[in-house]
Amino acid sequence: MIVDCHCHAGIGDGLTGPWDTEAHLGRYLARAARAGIERTVVFPAFHSDYALANRAVARIVARSRGRLYGFAFVHPVRDAGRVHPMVREAVEEHDFRGIKVHRHDGRITREICEAARRFRLPVLYDVMGEVETAELLAGEYPDVAFIIPHLGSFADEWRAQVAMIGLLIRHRNVHTDTSAVRRFDLLAEAVRRRPRQVLFGSDGPWLHPGLELAKIELLGLRPADERRVLSTNVLRLIEPVQRTRTVSRKVFAGFDFPGPKYSSRSVVRPDALPV
Ligand SMILES: [Zn+2]
Repeated sequence: MIVDCHCHAGIGDGLTGPWDTEAHLGRYLARAARAGIERTVVFPAFHSDYALANRAVARIVARSRGRLYGFAFVHPVRDAGRVHPMVREAVEEHDFRGIKVHRHDGRITREICEAARRFRLPVLYDVMGEVETAELLAGEYPDVAFIIPHLGSFADEWRAQVAMIGLLIRHRNVHTDTSAVRRFDLLAEAVRRRPRQVLFGSDGPWLHPGLELAKIELLGLRPADERRVLSTNVLRLIEPVQRTRTVSRKVFAGFDFPGPKYSSRSVVRPDALPV
């Protein structure tokens, strides 16, 4: 199975570019089907009210009959003080599986990290090149999984992407996704060093999922590592505890995450502008 961990859905209200205007899924789903991508994590485009945008994505996810997983987008500044209730609604009413934050909106906050911890969700945080934040997040929240997309920089900042590889090596709860990463040698190095911490993502519908998937094939990974990148790594983070517990321990052999969530005793979920 191939799972895309990074795609946008629904409409935004900014009207400054696709990233805050529209993420119609039709073209994405057709392209993903042709590429053999069977599951996709979706979250809103930029929006002035993420409570509304998350509900719109929830309706799309509900209609997908299991094809899509939702992540709740939260705004570090505008949603301050209401992150917990927003995330609770997303999890309990919409079965969402993670949180999305973008530094374009504001830097990630403790309120967001604590909500992630409380609801046992991964956080996909676009740091826009500010990868050093991941060093602090990993230390303060060792029991929370962070996904830093685009190897740290949608804008191809070499310095950030090189540093990101070091962060993956230093911290098992830090992950990255492959979406929009053009510096192939850096991506290859990241996967070679930490195959359990790199997740396939497309940044659809604006980027072509087939093109992004071809990149993974070109990495020429060992079959076991390719499976990790294409599905196992993300499923480990987003599958609910009760479902994951039924999965064979063998699947997750070798994981040794710090903190209570990833303890080996409880096989818990073992574990530039555009968005
Ligand atoms: Zn994105």
